[in-house]
Amino acid sequence: MDFVSGLRCRECGRTYPAEALHVCDYCFGPLEVTYDYRRVAATMSRERIEAGPRSIWRYADLLPVADAAPVDLGAGFTPLVRADRLAAELGLGELWIKDDTANPTGSFKDRVVSVALTKARQLGFKIAACASTGNLANSVAAHAARAGMESVVLIPHDLETAKITMTSVYGGRVFAVEGSYDDVNRLCAELTSEQPTWAFVNVNVRTYYAEGSKTLAFEVAEQLGWQAPDHVVVPIGSGSQLTKVAKGFAELWQVGLLDEEPSVRISGAQAEGCSPVATAFAEGTDVIRPVKPDTIAKSLAIGNPADGWYALETIRKSGGSCASVTDAEVIEGIRLLARTEGIFAETAGGVTIATLAKLVTEGVIRPDERVVAMVTGHGLKTVEALAGTVGPTATIAPTLEAFAAAMGDERERTNEPTTRSA
Ligand SMILES: *Cc1c(COP(=O)(O)O)cnc(C)c1O
Ligand SMILES: [Zn+2]
Repeated sequence: MDFVSGLRCRECGRTYPAEALHVCDYCFGPLEVTYDYRRVAATMSRERIEAGPRSIWRYADLLPVADAAPVDLGAGFTPLVRADRLAAELGLGELWIKDDTANPTGSFKDRVVSVALTKARQLGFKIAACASTGNLANSVAAHAARAGMESVVLIPHDLETAKITMTSVYGGRVFAVEGSYDDVNRLCAELTSEQPTWAFVNVNVRTYYAEGSKTLAFEVAEQLGWQAPDHVVVPIGSGSQLTKVAKGFAELWQVGLLDEEPSVRISGAQAEGCSPVATAFAEGTDVIRPVKPDTIAKSLAIGNPADGWYALETIRKSGGSCASVTDAEVIEGIRLLARTEGIFAETAGGVTIATLAKLVTEGVIRPDERVVAMVTGHGLKTVEALAGTVGPTATIAPTLEAFAAAMGDERERTNEPTTRSA
């Protein structure tokens, strides 16, 4: 038995049964899963959660498929790392990195896909499909393989090599579309009406898929000893993750798992080459103007974000901010995180860290806040982005002389004092 009470339109509030529906028949607003929180509160406890699996499924009572055998590769329960060296560089007091590079296919998308495919299988779908900026493709192909389902994945043709290889190796069908993500997404929406028996994780089962992102908030609170942080920085692609992180903290309070009512400021992070939400925030408008993306942060390159408006509203209500950073700053962000904390993130992680740095400089994120940065994808997926910026210190012959000479050159170059007298 699960605790879902139904689906509710985010615009007009009409309710629907928990079926394969994603938009309201009346106003075309997006639907959201609702729960019977009184029953959840009577069942869910810290002890019950702590005795659960070390994955997102420890929070099954607040997921839309608590009664089904999960399609599970072990998504979630990723490290929350105290980042004192990075905090010192940025001028922060208490900073934590939610390290979602540690997920099975290397990104936070495993959270949403594990939930989506579990629900899809329960609803009787045999084929999993998606439009993807790369990480979703990896995750759908992998989880479909795990579930014994077929997969059909559509991606922009110019994605990073690792993301294309990773998607293809799981044995599904991969279509590289000559166009942007927004073109791929439009094609996918058209396909959804042609192929009603396919579960398009980010279209016709999006309502369920989105719920998986709440587990980021659940884990952060549990890992902080059942406390919410003061400020969270979240990267924005479609904007779904950001809205669900807010929902996650609110739900934990609602079912009595937190001691204090959370008051979490949520700030959004975008790349300048695709920053429709940050632009609307800066201009103080409610209108998200679609853009044509041009950035190395391909996993966030959604020019017309489906949940952009909701993300904007969530940010404003929480007292957070939204900013964008250049591609050069993204690379600097990747290197800064790697060099200070030993965590290698993809370009989306660079966007988050660079935006964090910017918001600290602007005085938006304060040194007295307990801050969490969502680092959502692994750096090995986007090594192209670092080409020409990192590499070996020197290439040498296999001799002590060559090593000593190169080491000496390097010392001179970096002005490092010699540790022993000659
Ligand atoms: C998809 C993605 C995001 C953005 O998530 P949305 O829910 O689309 O806003 C962030 N980081 C990574 C690594 C992603 O793959
Ligand atoms: Zn409606």
